[in-house]
Amino acid sequence: MVDAAPMQFDFLKRLFGKRERPPAREMSTQAAVAKAVVAPHDPLLDGARALLRGVGAAALAERVRIEWNPRMRSTAGLAFPGRALVRLNPKLREFGEEEIQRTLRHELAHLLAHDRAGRRRIEPHGAEWRRACRDLGLVDEKRTHDLPLPRRQIARRHHYRCPACGTTIARVQPLRRGSACLRCCRAHNRGHYDARFRFERIDPPS
Ligand SMILES: [Zn+2]
Ligand SMILES: [Zn+2]
Repeated sequence: MVDAAPMQFDFLKRLFGKRERPPAREMSTQAAVAKAVVAPHDPLLDGARALLRGVGAAALAERVRIEWNPRMRSTAGLAFPGRALVRLNPKLREFGEEEIQRTLRHELAHLLAHDRAGRRRIEPHGAEWRRACRDLGLVDEKRTHDLPLPRRQIARRHHYRCPACGTTIARVQPLRRGSACLRCCRAHNRGHYDARFRFERIDPPS
């Protein structure tokens, strides 16, 4: 759990930051965290560390960090070798665990390739990266960092309507409890969360 102060800060930053817009038209008391660093013993991070240790990169395994960043649009993941950081797009969760793992390994392969190369310059998706992919169990990995194509998306089964403005939204995953309509929170409550605008569940349109 994140405590209240940074959540509020991120929430404001997200609302008023330059060209920073939430990925979806909803707000939630919990989902308002703009940038979430994966906690030390999150299974995702533990898994990444185990993968790197498995290929002999113990020092990198200690340093590696993962961050979910909702400001990413169509980019699925990014790697920052200097900071041993992998940044993932939270939208990946809509595509399932397999896509998360695939993207994670793609980005870890960048970190691993740079780690092995030391000061030598390497091509982003060159031979070193391809070898790192194979070592991390990724075969025939594409060179793109884009999210999976929309047609691969599974059906959006969760439908909601704002009781105030009538906006309807559809989601693959159910909304978090208490999620409210962003448009109405902006229009009527200066961008602050307002329980009056909580989305209501509706039947899927037929
Ligand atoms: Zn790449
Ligand atoms: Zn509304």
